[in-house]
Amino acid sequence: MERWKPPVATTKQEDMLLKRLTRVRALFGFLRRCRHELFDDAFQEQLEAMYRDTGAGDEPIAPALLCMVMLLQGYVRASDAEAVELSLVDMRWQLVLGCLGATEPPFSQGALQKFRERMIDHEMDRALLEKTVSLVRAGAASKGEADTLKKALRVAIDSRPLVGAGRVEDTINLLGHTARIIVQIVSKLTERNPEELCREAGAPLLLAPSIKAGLDLDWSDPKQKATGVEIVERQVSSLQLWVERHLDDVVTRPLQPYLDALTQVKTQDIETSPQGRAQIRQGVAADRRISVADPEMRHGRKSKSKRFDGFKEHIGCDLDLRVILACSVTPANRPEEEGALPLQEDIHRQGLSIAELFIDRAYVNSPVVQDVLEAKGEVFSKPWNQRHRNPLLFGKIDFKIDLATQTITCPAGEVESFEPGETVQFNPEACGACSLRAKCTLAAAGRGRTVSISADEALQKRFQALQQTSSGRATLRHRTAVEHALAHIAARKGSHARYLGVRKNLFDLRRAAAIQNLEVRSQDLTQQAKVST
Ligand code: SF4
Repeated sequence: MERWKPPVATTKQEDMLLKRLTRVRALFGFLRRCRHELFDDAFQEQLEAMYRDTGAGDEPIAPALLCMVMLLQGYVRASDAEAVELSLVDMRWQLVLGCLGATEPPFSQGALQKFRERMIDHEMDRALLEKTVSLVRAGAASKGEADTLKKALRVAIDSRPLVGAGRVEDTINLLGHTARIIVQIVSKLTERNPEELCREAGAPLLLAPSIKAGLDLDWSDPKQKATGVEIVERQVSSLQLWVERHLDDVVTRPLQPYLDALTQVKTQDIETSPQGRAQIRQGVAADRRISVADPEMRHGRKSKSKRFDGFKEHIGCDLDLRVILACSVTPANRPEEEGALPLQEDIHRQGLSIAELFIDRAYVNSPVVQDVLEAKGEVFSKPWNQRHRNPLLFGKIDFKIDLATQTITCPAGEVESFEPGETVQFNPEACGACSLRAKCTLAAAGRGRTVSISADEALQKRFQALQQTSSGRATLRHRTAVEHALAHIAARKGSHARYLGVRKNLFDLRRAAAIQNLEVRSQDLTQQAKVST
């Protein structure tokens, strides 16, 4: 397989271009100067290994060149088709790719798509991110900042919402959309007219321009709405049955994801009423599918009142070198703590560990926190709010909690014992006769004040102590670095996903993080150059 060996020395034409690339889109200049370091022999070997399973040589374009194209695509947010054009009409692309003056694009759109899939299959997006981390770390060492190159790092973790690329639909449209796709595929496979198929399968509703237009109901009338749900459920079930009866297993293979989707949507959203009629289920199923195009998107919340549909992007940042060490993506309904574990694994894979962990409260239940504490590391986070939502009532902060004796003392001096993780109720008789009751609880007569004790109460106490001192609050503010890194990612990628599914969006996040790390290295070099002149 051909290896990418672009020259290190610059030509006069390249020097002229590099002089212009100092303020606007400066990363083009940096990539031209550092491409031989980024794609050194060791990394190119790793990239070439992706082809060994299918036989080297079946891809005529050097993988390192395609990997550089992927970075440029992420940098300017170009589609595959645009990337091919830019390699021909934009001198900055040609400068980086080493093809100044080319009259033919050095790669095709198809080659890019296949390369991206190969990178994902072989986890080479992670390797690319790790390579940029090692570049920044090696650069810091040459600056003489050896103390910042400890293997045990100060790491901050945070996440941001990512709106999914799939269309979010209600139950009727989810069923109708999926059933229409099934009809299209069956029509292609059997070379039969879709109209004939729908009628034979007992699903004529699918022939209407849209399911709701076909039903033509007054949706504000609950009775008509219930009838609509029944009709849709009956017709899609009839189609499902028809497929099972008339097509054999081999033919239904391409249909299987859509048949499964129909079953999933019916199970999560439809229930049978006591009268035996299909109706929309009350409440939202825990892991509800919300899109046909992207089966992994989920409902999520930014806060109690703000909802979004899609994924959460998590990053782990080295607070000393400002480098993004690892990334993960989870469906939006998953708790933050699930995103932290893959970050820790990726950090360990690089031979690094977490000595100090700065987190948002939502990550406190992650096993990573326990791992860091067990390894004698430090964890920093804001504590859960200890004040009562009603400012006129005593909050948890007004009670004295003794972890050694596992007792809690109220402002009136009543003492109760507790187990971590339980809710303590004070003696109703004592509370009933208490002169402070009006300031303590609004509970009904005959009930005492309750206080929840966290399973990690000891940790929460440490966090509280931090928040109560100026130096502690300054330490907690170190976490803002990861918020800035996420803000840069948001500015680079936007709020909407470019791809469908968790894995492809993880690729996009890792690529954005790799670009960000390269910008950090580029800024460091510029700074060093300024200092030395
Ligand atoms: S109401 Fe109960 S818990 Fe509250 S101060 Fe009085 S005795 Fe203590």
